[in-house]
Amino acid sequence: MSNRILERDFYNPSALYYCAVELRKELDASRACIADKLDCKPSEVVFTSGATESNNWAVACGFKNKRGNIVVSEGEHPSVYEPVMLLKGKGIDVRTVPLLSDGRVDEERLACCVDCETAFVSVIHASNETGVVNDVMRLSRIVKEKNPRAVFHSDGVQAFCKVPFRLSGSCVDLYSISAHKIGGLKGAGALYIRNGFNISPLVSGGGQERNLRSGTENVMSILSFKSAIEDFDGSHVCDLYDYAVAYLSKLVGVKINGCADHSSGYIVSVGVSGVKSEILQHILSDSGVLVGTGSACSSKTKKNRTLESMKTEKRFMEGNIRISFSPSNTMEEIKRAMDVISVSIEKLRSAING
Ligand code: PLP
Repeated sequence: MSNRILERDFYNPSALYYCAVELRKELDASRACIADKLDCKPSEVVFTSGATESNNWAVACGFKNKRGNIVVSEGEHPSVYEPVMLLKGKGIDVRTVPLLSDGRVDEERLACCVDCETAFVSVIHASNETGVVNDVMRLSRIVKEKNPRAVFHSDGVQAFCKVPFRLSGSCVDLYSISAHKIGGLKGAGALYIRNGFNISPLVSGGGQERNLRSGTENVMSILSFKSAIEDFDGSHVCDLYDYAVAYLSKLVGVKINGCADHSSGYIVSVGVSGVKSEILQHILSDSGVLVGTGSACSSKTKKNRTLESMKTEKRFMEGNIRISFSPSNTMEEIKRAMDVISVSIEKLRSAING
C-alpha cells in the first residue's frame, strides 16, 4: 500500500479529477470501516492526526461555552488531563475523580462530582498505564441521568478493537481513537462526534472533514487504519496475558497493579519492590525484552498519576514496569520474557543488597 500511495496514487483526495476521487473513496471506506467497528454512522467519524489531537479537541469543544464545571478521572491520558488542567489554571472548576485500588474509576465519586452545572466529563475507556477497563456504557448513562446536558467524552485509544464495545446504546458524545495502537501507521486518529452534537472546527482552512478539521488528509496513515482494523486478531492475546499474570503473581515482592479481572488483557502494570524501574528496564532491554516504565506517552514525566490515584505503595511505584502485548507476540516470546524478567529482578536485587 505504502509504495502505491507514494509512487502512484499521490493525489490530493480533495481534487476533482478521477484518480483523486478514487482516493477519496478509499478514505471514506476507511471511515466506514471505523464506523462499523464502533457501531456508529460514517458521518460521525472525523479524521485527526492522532488521539492527542482528538482528545484536545474533545476538551476544547466539550467546554466551549466556558461555563460550569469539568469532571475528569485521575486516570486520564495527559492529552486529556493537561488541557483540562490548563482550564483549571484559568479558574475553571475542575473536579477530579480518584481511581479505586483495582484501577477503575470510583463510580460513586464520579456521580457525586456531576451536577447541573457540569459541562464536560471525560473517563478513559481502558487505561494506558494499567490496562484496566472502565464501564463507559454504564458511566456515560450515570452522567446523563444526573445531567443530560453534560458532554460525555471517552478516550478509547487502548480499548478500540481490544475491548468489546458499541457506541450505539451508550450515552457517549465524543470518543477518541488512534491508528497506531492497533498496528496502523502513526499520524492518524479519529474523533467520533455524535450526530447532532454542535462542535466547532478544530482547524479552519480548506474545509476538509466536513469543515471540521481542515488540512490535507494523511492518506497513507488513514488507509492503514482500515487495514489495521481488518487484520487485527487479538484472539490469543488473553492467553499471553493470563500466562504473564499467573507467572508474575508468583514472584516474591512483585504486584500486579490493578485487578486482572477488569483488564483489557493487552497491558499489565507490574510493581517490583526493591528495584528502580529505569534500571530494570535497561537490563531487560539488553536481553531483548522491551517494557515501559509507565506508558510511553507519559514516560517523560516522573510522576505516575494513575498509580498514585490507586494508592499504590511507593515501593511498587518506584519499581513499576508496564508490559504490553500485541497480537504479533507468541507464547514462546512471552514465556522467554517472563523468565528473563524473573532472573533480572533477582540479579538486580542481589546487586543492590550486596
Ligand atoms: N490516549 C491514550 C490512552 C494513549 O495510550 C495514547 C498514546 O498512546 C494517546 C491518547 C495519544 O495517542 P496519539 O499517539 O495517537 O496521539
